[in-house]
Amino acid sequence: MSDSWRERALAALSAERIARHPTPLRRYPLPLDWPVSLYVKDETTQPTGSLKHPFARDLIADAIEAGKVGATTRLIEASSGNMAVASAYFALLLGLPFTAVVPHTTGAAKLARIEKYGGTPHRVDPPLAVYERAAELASETGGHYLDHLGTIADSVDARLADRDHGLAPAILAGLPEGTPPEWIVVGVGSGACSRAVGGYLRRHGYPTKVAVVDPEHSAYFPGWATGCADYATGMPTRIEGIGRPRMEPAFDPAVVDLVIPVPDAASVAAMRHLAATAGLRAGPSTGAAFWGSCHLLHRMRQYGTRGSVVMVAADAADAYTGTYYDDAWTMAKGWDLATPAAALSRFPRTGAWPDQG
Ligand SMILES: *Cc1c(COP(=O)(O)O)cnc(C)c1O
Repeated sequence: MSDSWRERALAALSAERIARHPTPLRRYPLPLDWPVSLYVKDETTQPTGSLKHPFARDLIADAIEAGKVGATTRLIEASSGNMAVASAYFALLLGLPFTAVVPHTTGAAKLARIEKYGGTPHRVDPPLAVYERAAELASETGGHYLDHLGTIADSVDARLADRDHGLAPAILAGLPEGTPPEWIVVGVGSGACSRAVGGYLRRHGYPTKVAVVDPEHSAYFPGWATGCADYATGMPTRIEGIGRPRMEPAFDPAVVDLVIPVPDAASVAAMRHLAATAGLRAGPSTGAAFWGSCHLLHRMRQYGTRGSVVMVAADAADAYTGTYYDDAWTMAKGWDLATPAAALSRFPRTGAWPDQG
């Protein structure tokens, strides 16, 4: 009986993967006489609006295969963001109860995204206690703590040999030019996305380089630049989805060629610029990736390198209309958006790009 649930659950997860069309890979409009091009891999079109969707599915499939999750097991995750939403979606698909352990400060809009898929938010104070509380809750209820920060590396590595699974093969197959891109640009939070993309490219011998973008107050840029794996800032970042107070275990610096620090105001200005110029309404981590891509395109032009840059749009704007898209909110943060906005609109006209950032 329980075995047949397991088979049905795994079949339902594979069916969800196969039924899903590949997300669009769109060309961003740059001057046609430039020898470089930019493509956006649009993960905002995933069913739950972010790149976490396939990662959550794989993580849950692994837990079922390992016998850690059965027909009545409560799934638990310590997240108030995209991972919680994607996990809630798959729990609902499988008929499992789901609890998201969230900081007590989490706003109503974020709670509503989890509740939409039948998830139950569990508020915790202080915010940093979410991980401990999630583990406790799992042992109290006989549930399974997904712990994506701790377990996603294994889940990603197990699939690197598969030429039909994940972001990198989807990008390579979708590029109209038939040549691998010069760069793929992603944000880094848990480290899963850069690990999956960089790991795949290395393993299968592609020349494409991986750049990750990192916001203010995050440990990734200083940790990577100094080679110090336990670098910690102890501070949360202000760009949803990316940057961490410490380098997470899934982050693999060996498959990342460059870490680009991006000022927070530049990420927000770039997010809005992308919406205005390409009609792509995404979140601020996508803005950071766009800013980093412009930096790389500028460098390629300077050195006479031809080819393309592919950036990943990580999540949709829905969750941010009252925050990063709201002038009063960004003003209260003290961000000067006008200076980076001017640099962004100047770039396609003159090819000039700011030295810093
Ligand atoms: C998770 C996330 C990222 C970063 O991806 P990781 O795989 O966790 O490193 C970037 N942007 C957004 C919006 C995310 O939710």
